[in-house]
Amino acid sequence: MTKLSAPLPIRPGCVYLVGAGPGDPELLTLKAARIIGECDVLVFDHLVSQAILDLVRPDAERIYAGKERGNHALPQEELNVLLVRLARTGKKVVRLKGGDPYTFGRGGEEVQTLRESGICFEVVPGITAAAGVAAYAGIPLTHRDYAQACVFVTGHLKDGSMNLDWPGLARERQTVIIYMGLHGLGHLCDKLMEHGLPADWPAAIVQQGTTPNQRTVTGTLTTLPALAEAAKLRAPTLIIVGKVVTLHKTLCWFPEATQTP
Ligand code: SAH
Repeated sequence: MTKLSAPLPIRPGCVYLVGAGPGDPELLTLKAARIIGECDVLVFDHLVSQAILDLVRPDAERIYAGKERGNHALPQEELNVLLVRLARTGKKVVRLKGGDPYTFGRGGEEVQTLRESGICFEVVPGITAAAGVAAYAGIPLTHRDYAQACVFVTGHLKDGSMNLDWPGLARERQTVIIYMGLHGLGHLCDKLMEHGLPADWPAAIVQQGTTPNQRTVTGTLTTLPALAEAAKLRAPTLIIVGKVVTLHKTLCWFPEATQTP
C-alpha cells in the first residue's frame, strides 16, 4: 500500500484555489476542508454554503466576491488584483469557488494573473455540479444502454444568443449538461430539436442540487421549458439532456423539496 506523507501546512503568501463542491458541505474534499480551516483570508463566491464558511477560523478575514447573475460584487479584474495584493501581504489566502474551480469557474484566469505576478498557488479540485447534482438526482451521466459520452457546456447567453456547437450537441447516445442555462432553456431545447434531436427527447432541470432545496423537473425538449417555468425554479439550476434522464424515476434516492421556498 502507498504510504501517504503527512500533508504540509499551507504557506503564507500563497493562494489556494479551492473547489467547494455543489452545495452539500460533506462533498468537500478532505484537502479542501483542511486548507479552509488553516487560511488567514477567504475570498468566496455566492454558491458556497454557510456550513463550509463555518470551517474558517473565527479570526480569519472573509471577503465576498459575488458572482450571481448580473450581480458581481467584484469585477473579475479587481478580484485578480485583490488575490495578488492579499498574497503579497504574506497571508495564507484561500479563493473558494463553487463546484470545481476549473469548470466554468474562471479559475484559469485567476491563476494566470497569479503566475504573471509571481505569486505561488495551488489548485484543489472540487466536485463539479454535473457530477454532484446528477448523482443526487438519480441520473447517471453515462450508462452503457444510453450514453457513452457526456459533454459539459455553458448556456450563458451572450448578446441574447447561445453560441454553441449545435450539431455536436444534438447527438443521440450522449448526455449534454448545461451550466447556467435556465434563462436560455427554451432557446436551447429549440436548437437541439432543430439540429435533429426528437421532440420527445428526455431532458431535466435540477434546482439547487445536493441541498435541502433540490428539485428535479423532468420532461422532454418540447415540454421542459413550460414545466420549468411553472415550477418557478430558483438558481442555481443544471440542465441535463439525454436518455439517461429516464432513469431518474427509478434511481432517485435523495429527498427533494416539493416546492421552491
Ligand atoms: N465551478 C462550478 C460551476 C460554476 S458556474 C462547478 O464546477 O460546478 C455556476 C453554474 O453551475 C450554475 O449556474 C449552475 O448551472 C451550476 N450549479 C452549481 N451548483 C449547482 C447546484 N447545486 N445545483 C444545480 N446547478 C448548480
